[in-house]
Amino acid sequence: MPSSETSAKSGLEPKLLTVPGPILLLGAPGVGKGTQAKELVKLWGIPQVSTGDLLRGNVAKGTELGKVAKEIMGRGELVPDSLVNEMVAVRLTEPDTASGYILDGFPRTLPQAKWLDGRLAAQPGTLPLVAVSIQVEYNQLLCRITGRRNCPVCQTIYNVCFKPPQRDGFCDIEGAALVQRADDTEKVFEERMRAYEAMTAPVLEHYRSLGRFAEVDGDRPINDIAAGIVAAVEQLRK
Ligand code: AMP
Repeated sequence: MPSSETSAKSGLEPKLLTVPGPILLLGAPGVGKGTQAKELVKLWGIPQVSTGDLLRGNVAKGTELGKVAKEIMGRGELVPDSLVNEMVAVRLTEPDTASGYILDGFPRTLPQAKWLDGRLAAQPGTLPLVAVSIQVEYNQLLCRITGRRNCPVCQTIYNVCFKPPQRDGFCDIEGAALVQRADDTEKVFEERMRAYEAMTAPVLEHYRSLGRFAEVDGDRPINDIAAGIVAAVEQLRK
């Protein structure tokens, strides 16, 4: 278990940090950032800001950004910093982000991190960003990613290795044919891992060097991981 993690109990007690402030969830593709962000949203009542979701929304709507991002995302590469920063800037002006937000998948490069740090520093009274990285071993991630399927109707997520539907290929709730994200193939996974090691690992080191970084073990039940993140954030906010 990573050393910086405090003893997390299973099951979550609502913990009231009055102002959680900006929180960054980091980790390789498939570690469960999105799942954990949703747990923390329930707990703290602050929004999840997922750049992957925002970009997929743009692709679905066919915006100019979506047209550019579609090809890049399909190859597992990173969308240019300037485009992603601009998209995040717009999202962070929305009033629901006033007491904090959970960043999921952003910043993913050092220039994005420095852009965000600069933006927060220019807003007096804003708490500094704290970063928590979720750690999961490579082969486990490969299974999680390439086995992932979701229902296009109710968005329930299955996994053919760990959580298969009762009827192969179909949603238990809606009966709809399950779909696989275009970037969840093994080839694209490897490219996303390469991008992560090359571009995002320096972001972890950046926040570590600022003393605003913790790691939690992501190979555990969802509630235990969430409790670990809460404990880590409370420690970093002291
Ligand atoms: P995710 O859902 O977070 O795994 O993101 C899916 C894809 O969206 C990534 O593989 C990238 O192509 C793109 N993406 C998401 N967030 C960023 C970001 N912060 N910077 C650049 N590209 C991103």
